[in-house]
Amino acid sequence: MRPRRGMLDAMDCLFCKIVAETIPSKKLYDDADVYAFADIDPKAPFHALIVPKEHIESLADAAANHKSILGHMHLTAAELARTHGLNNGYRVVINTGADGGQTVSHLHLHLMGGRPMHWPPG
Ligand code: 5GP
Repeated sequence: MRPRRGMLDAMDCLFCKIVAETIPSKKLYDDADVYAFADIDPKAPFHALIVPKEHIESLADAAANHKSILGHMHLTAAELARTHGLNNGYRVVINTGADGGQTVSHLHLHLMGGRPMHWPPG
């Protein structure tokens, strides 16, 4: 059987490989549906990436059946912020598509904290 297009994308995906632990990462959280790890090039003293284990290319590709996982990703961010002492606030960001600055085609939520953030972002 030939793999379907979505399966091919997932087989070739950096974050799917990190979720599968075939590429190492500093794991921060792991459950049946969500995986979180430290960003390799942190933009803040604390910078985590929170991803769904299912391969979803971007927020633009999310559908009604992803409501639960999208909520779960955000609640995971809030829990990580609590457990890592980001008591003064933090920022969550989902870069989406080329103009949104997305460089890895697997939906991910950035959680950044440990310094004051600026607005607007570049
Ligand atoms: P984007 O630019 O798509 O919103 O975010 C992708 C993020 O993934 C970037 O912040 C980048 O530093 C991070 N990243 C890229 N490759 C790796 C990697 O191999 N390991 C980890 N931990 N983070 C990565």
